[in-house]
Amino acid sequence: MIIAANFKTNMTRAQTAEYYTKVSGFITEKGISSEAMIFPPATAFNTFEGVLTVGAQNAFAVENGAYTGEIGLEQLDEFGIKTILVGHSERRHILGESQELIIEKFNYYKEKGFTIVYCIGEPIEVREEGNEALMNYLDDQFEGIDLEYEKLIIAYEPVWAIGTGVTPSEDDVELIHTALRQKTSRPLLYGGSVKTANAKELLALNNVDGALIGSGALNAEDFCTILSIAENITNNREGK
Ligand code: PEP
Repeated sequence: MIIAANFKTNMTRAQTAEYYTKVSGFITEKGISSEAMIFPPATAFNTFEGVLTVGAQNAFAVENGAYTGEIGLEQLDEFGIKTILVGHSERRHILGESQELIIEKFNYYKEKGFTIVYCIGEPIEVREEGNEALMNYLDDQFEGIDLEYEKLIIAYEPVWAIGTGVTPSEDDVELIHTALRQKTSRPLLYGGSVKTANAKELLALNNVDGALIGSGALNAEDFCTILSIAENITNNREGK
């Protein structure tokens, strides 16, 4: 499984370093087989020798240049970062990123060989229109995206479930992930209010290959608990 933590605009460099040490130590000690990915704010990028994948929450589709407030490939390369989130709903809906810009970022970082966690998800008004409208909306978010890119990971995150404490029903998550499975063979993460209390149920669903977690992962102990839950599910699936 892949268990990813999106820190968003939280955590200082010092807090992030402490978090890495705790989580990396836990993974080594417990022999966790899941991949742990952490997306800290760019101000917390640093070199780190451990068993974690550190990724960028965002970067512009350039090596460097005159793009005030953005970072580019050069700033990621400095820290050996080769993983990036693209299309997160907060960037789509709060920062106004268009599908056109998202495609540009996707293609640029694909060409540079990055692992791309590509986020999709519908707002509540689309959810309320029913499953067909929902799948059409997700299809539109796949426009221009190579769904068989070998380093692609999809994160399905309903906008109305992000940071709200509300999740879709288990049946709905399974239904949507099963429909997504017909479109791509790449790993499918669920995201939206995953926490220690519901991780077991959500991660055990068919066609759920992991989770992308925001607030529920800000505490290193909670993240480690979710890694343990994922490990148990993986072992059960493999009949260990
Ligand atoms: C996210 O922002 O990717 C996310 C899933 O947030 P939260 O877990 O806080 O809902």
